[in-house]
Amino acid sequence: MRTVFPSPEVAPGQRPPLSARRKTSCEPSFSTQTANSLAMIIITRPDATEEQIQHIVSRIADWGLRAEVSRGEMRVVIGVIGAEDKIRQKPLGAFPGVESVMPVLKPYKLVSYEFRGTASRVKVGDVVVGSKEVVIMAGPCSVESEDQILSIAQSIRDSGAKILRGGAFKPRTSPYSFQGLGKVGLQLLAEARRESGLPIITEVMDTKDLELVAEYADCLQIGARNMQNFSLLREVGRTQLPVMLKRGMAASIKDLLMSAEYILSEGNFNVLLCERGIRTFETMTRNTLDLNAVPVLKAETHLPVVVDPTHGIGIRDFVPAMALAAVAAGADSIMIEVHNAPEFAKSDGEQSLLPKDFADLVRRVRCVAEAVGRAV
Ligand code: PEP
Ligand code: MN
Repeated sequence: MRTVFPSPEVAPGQRPPLSARRKTSCEPSFSTQTANSLAMIIITRPDATEEQIQHIVSRIADWGLRAEVSRGEMRVVIGVIGAEDKIRQKPLGAFPGVESVMPVLKPYKLVSYEFRGTASRVKVGDVVVGSKEVVIMAGPCSVESEDQILSIAQSIRDSGAKILRGGAFKPRTSPYSFQGLGKVGLQLLAEARRESGLPIITEVMDTKDLELVAEYADCLQIGARNMQNFSLLREVGRTQLPVMLKRGMAASIKDLLMSAEYILSEGNFNVLLCERGIRTFETMTRNTLDLNAVPVLKAETHLPVVVDPTHGIGIRDFVPAMALAAVAAGADSIMIEVHNAPEFAKSDGEQSLLPKDFADLVRRVRCVAEAVGRAV
């Protein structure tokens, strides 16, 4: 299995199987994971013409290198990646319209902010993450039944959520806990998408399930426990589906960026990074939500940043405070677990908000977003 290219002509939830979706012209012709890859950035002059930019891009492609064009407000940056010996021989600075050329020195090259010189926007369905708008994702931890997911989808949409979350494949600490409804859960999510109009994000835990999950999901979630499952990262990198990569509970910010690099290096730049709390010596909360990660990630990478305060603190009453703090810190999106009957939830009921509390939280998020120059 090498590629997933959701075909826009096919209705969501009825997409053709992965094996039927073959190469398209935008698929990279090679993996950038060579033994000695180098990334260079070409900064063009503010007055560079479109013709000059297209000329540079087509020469780079002729040389068998990959070019990634980013259009900032002032100028265009062209990131170039490929085998070091090939790149070093090329006169990248000699093209008309070029102001300067420099190597990306960070170990996370494609992910680094300088590779694009501007913040990326990632589209999940029709929802853009990474713009002025703070996007709210919400839904139950697990998809449990038709009634449950349809009712939650409708209520969170009415309150202002833009993306529906729900796990069909659940990574549980105990093998005896509810493991998710699998394919039936995905079908219920597709039904909830049809009814609510919200795009869906759901977890893929294993490469063997990717083909199935990709048929339904608008965004793939890679959970904290799989942040360094490199074969899974590579496989989702060979799709063009958006991927939300959650930080591992014992992973540094740099580890998270390096894991994201696996996905981008396979050609998929549609990646969201999610801070969801790390393990510390603190025992009064489920995890410690590391909001330090938000400004650090915003400075280090062009990828949008999501914060999951629900898993970050793990206690319902305290989720709203951390959600507001995440928005104040600069998160592009927040993910909140919501359940209509948390006491009966099959997973994470203790940290899920009731729909009415979620509605109240959205109102407060809107105020904080406006205070920091964003919107909901
Ligand atoms: C989840 O989102 O329900 C989940 C399992 O998250 P994490 O991987 O962050 O624990
Ligand atoms: Mn959960």
